[in-house]
Amino acid sequence: MTTPVRFLDLQAIYREDQAAYDAAYRRVMDSGRWLLGPELEAFEAEFAAFLGRRHVVGVGNGLDALALALQAAGIGPGDEVIVPAHTFIATWQAVRLAGATPRPVEPSPGGFNIDAAGVRAALTPATRAVMPVHLTGQPADPAAIAALCEAHGLVLIEDAAQAHGARHQGRPVGGFGRAAGYSFYPGKNLGAFGDAGAAVTDDDALARALRQRRNYGSLQRYAHETEGVNSRLDELQAAFLRVRLARLPEHNARRAAQAARYAEALAGVPGLTLPAPVPGDEPVWHLYVVRHARRDALQAALAAAGIDSLVHYPRPVYRFPPFAGAAPAGRSASDRLCDEVLSLPIGPHLGLADIDRVCDAVRAFCTGPTTP
Ligand SMILES: *Cc1c(COP(=O)(O)O)cnc(C)c1O
Repeated sequence: MTTPVRFLDLQAIYREDQAAYDAAYRRVMDSGRWLLGPELEAFEAEFAAFLGRRHVVGVGNGLDALALALQAAGIGPGDEVIVPAHTFIATWQAVRLAGATPRPVEPSPGGFNIDAAGVRAALTPATRAVMPVHLTGQPADPAAIAALCEAHGLVLIEDAAQAHGARHQGRPVGGFGRAAGYSFYPGKNLGAFGDAGAAVTDDDALARALRQRRNYGSLQRYAHETEGVNSRLDELQAAFLRVRLARLPEHNARRAAQAARYAEALAGVPGLTLPAPVPGDEPVWHLYVVRHARRDALQAALAAAGIDSLVHYPRPVYRFPPFAGAAPAGRSASDRLCDEVLSLPIGPHLGLADIDRVCDAVRAFCTGPTTP
């Protein structure tokens, strides 16, 4: 049997820069600083420069980045926040944590993301904010959604947890609204070796409010000016993230080359729908998601060939008990999408030969005699 094609290999990412990660560990252990120290300050400055934004505020995880951004922007009980039906559940939970109510929008026809037309159709008198998700690393129509938010006096907070470095019309996502939230969960394009996240903004007052809220509402010990939580990006993770950030452009380029290989090798394969980026967008390919009517059988065939694949996501957020109140009556566009999506392996741990093996197995399944 040939070696398996793994979906994710965090050990490989560690080994690629082991000396630098080990040096970062040593530096922090020798410093005796664990929280709100020089590594966090340096990482915040470096990630801000990477994104071209004024402020990065490191927090404990991506969920907190989104929830704290909403709260710092004044969103709370009684407010509705527009979110995609098809996303990771954290997008909705962030709205709930802020005390507001998520209002779902279905993905645009043929796509995975919401667009400005879908947002416009979902507006109500209670709508106060919009939280689009740049799912799988593809920009979610951010310029048009920003214009709509401007016209209606709505707060735009981008969920950029899967889109570190993606660009729309030449501009990095995460810079179209009032603030954006990033996750550094280990499997993300920019991942820590544990949990971490950040909120980013160009707004000085909002950045200050975020710095307070992540640390019990205080910038100075025992001076608590606002409500807050304990959600800090620790020194060790910040030091590791600095190493991984330096690699991010190269890692994103490897993902793009792999996506191009998939697009070329799988074009025209019967029954298979490939991801189609909006022309002019530069996605960062956090995931490579294809669609097939017999998704489960395709996944089983890949597994038999030693190829990992995953389903992102098995059902829309409103099909989970905590959010069932927001579910539509009939079968939705998200329901249909969730039945067909399959994420093929992509990432810096793979080579183009691995992608070719996946393509061979996918093609064999789609053109094979057992496929009706
Ligand atoms: C990963 C993710 C989050 C949450 O990030 P955590 O760091 O896991 O809290 C939020 N939204 C989306 C779309 C994500 O993929």
